[in-house]
Amino acid sequence: MASIQIVGLEKHFGDVKALSDINLEIEKGEFFTLLGPSGCGKTTLLRTIAGFYHQDKGDIYIDGELINKVPAYQRNTGMVFQNYAVFPHMSVYDNVAYGLRVRKFTKEEILRKVSAALKSVHLEGYEQRTPDKLSGGQQQRVGLARAMAIQPRVLLFDEPLSNLDAKLRIEMREEIRAVQKSLGITSIYVTHDQEEALVISDRIAVMNQGVIQQIGAPWEIYSNPQNTFVAYFVGKINMLKMKLEEGAEGGMRRATLGSMSLRVPAEGTEGRREIIAAFRPEDVLEAGNDRGVNIMVGTLQTVSFMGSVARFELLDEGQEIVIDRHRPREVDMPPLGSKVSFAVHADSTLLFDPETGHRIGKGAKR
Ligand code: ATP
Repeated sequence: MASIQIVGLEKHFGDVKALSDINLEIEKGEFFTLLGPSGCGKTTLLRTIAGFYHQDKGDIYIDGELINKVPAYQRNTGMVFQNYAVFPHMSVYDNVAYGLRVRKFTKEEILRKVSAALKSVHLEGYEQRTPDKLSGGQQQRVGLARAMAIQPRVLLFDEPLSNLDAKLRIEMREEIRAVQKSLGITSIYVTHDQEEALVISDRIAVMNQGVIQQIGAPWEIYSNPQNTFVAYFVGKINMLKMKLEEGAEGGMRRATLGSMSLRVPAEGTEGRREIIAAFRPEDVLEAGNDRGVNIMVGTLQTVSFMGSVARFELLDEGQEIVIDRHRPREVDMPPLGSKVSFAVHADSTLLFDPETGHRIGKGAKR
């Protein structure tokens, strides 16, 4: 188990600034995820930690030791890749033993460590198979066992599940999480899949354009996003740019957009004339449940039935608004084109600065 500190890291590729002033502290045994859209710099950061790339600026420490000048093969990290990176002509046993042989362990030690690694990924009995006779999920388990067998200080995962089908992805992410927790290896995991990040991580760093946008536990990132990028990237959210009316009453102000009107908390809105008001589909109540305030009406465009939830897409003042109806029943489904009323509770409304995108008011951290 190791802790990792990253201080002021920067990396350029020609004119592209792939990483900009990255500062992170990852605790021993933590499962830490780098989440962001394609091109945001997450793979570059992972590879820089592994030592495959060298940063232009900044420092990386493992367990307090500065490793800037330590070559990749001496950093004692294990990497699990997207494309499995297993050797196709070698047996499962030889694949997992590979790193141990390079490190000159004895035959007995290799046998013991390979057996333990295969056991932890549930591949006992597959020792003599070659990867072409394994499923994608099993090949990825071989990749994971190989990375773990050398007992690295840190495990690095580069989108390891993106080549697997949806069902297997869910199974494997649970398995990776269970193996990581039982061994307690500090892990850094790269993904662009926000649901995967929420499920698997102790903490998440959300990245955009080489900059860390927010670091926090999954719950915190989802329910307390600090800017519009994080709010939008993690989960579904409605965002409305609204005008604020003068004056506050009972700690609330009125925000309007055409005929739409919302009462929002006044805290943090002093001196502002515009605001972005955001709310998640699942926080919307059926009209009548909000004591008459913040009732909105939209025209139903589409309904997506998802089992426990039906997601309605409404149009109001040219704005698309998505709301969820929980435990939907067919008899309650309004026809497309009809008017649907819904209520947005002031407590579940998040406010952002329209210019900077930063969170304001209650829940804002700066
Ligand atoms: P993806 O999910 O698509 O892999 P990512 O978030 O991992 O994306 P990076 O691969 O880290 O993003 O890329 C960050 C930026 O750096 C991008 O603009 C990319 O085009 C650029 N970049 C990455 N690697 C190189 C390279 N070897 N040479 C030049 N530019 C690169």
